[in-house]
Amino acid sequence: MAKKDMYEVENGKLKRLRRSCPKCGDGVFLAVHEDRVSCGKCGYTEFKNK
Ligand SMILES: [Zn+2]
Repeated sequence: MAKKDMYEVENGKLKRLRRSCPKCGDGVFLAVHEDRVSCGKCGYTEFKNK
């Protein structure tokens, strides 16, 4: 498998594979936004530093 297959492209943007919430644990994924990721279950938010 080629390295580029580790990423998926959505709307022309490169999207990293989803991470799970550090509070809720595996199975609960963080929603990826433009400048942050957030958990829809507990509200955990992590801002990206660019
Ligand atoms: Zn959570």
